[in-house]
Order: sequence, then structure tokens, then C-alpha cells
Amino acid sequence: MKVSINDDCISCGLCVELCPEVFDMPDDGKAFPIVDVVPEDQIDCAREAADSCPTESIILED
Ligand code: SF4
Repeated sequence: MKVSINDDCISCGLCVELCPEVFDMPDDGKAFPIVDVVPEDQIDCAREAADSCPTESIILED
């Protein structure tokens, strides 16, 4: 599963809290994926982050 984040991110930090192995965020910028492909054991939390993102910025593609 591929992961990306679009420009609508408002830097709320939720995805980093929910799934820190997949997402990171600089103090003064938007969140970004640490990986291009989500590891198998991180798929559930990546999905949870995508579902919880207030701007629906997290894109997951099979
Ligand atoms: S949850 Fe969404 S809006 Fe919040 S930091 Fe992550 S990508 Fe950005």
C-alpha cells in the first residue's frame, strides 16, 4: 500500500500521534510520510490516521 499526503494538511499532528512509524512532521511544516510503501504491520494505523485526518489529506493506494 502506497501512502502520500496532499497540500491540504493543516499540521494538526494527529497522523504522527496515531502512526509514528509512517508519518512525521517538522515543527514548522506539513506532515509527510516517512515511507513510500506502508509496512504490513503499520497498515491498520495508517488507515486509522487517514480516516481521522481532518482535511482528508492522507492518500492510501493499494
Ligand atoms: S492528520 Fe492530516 S492534517 Fe493532521 S498533520 Fe496529518 S496529514 Fe496533516
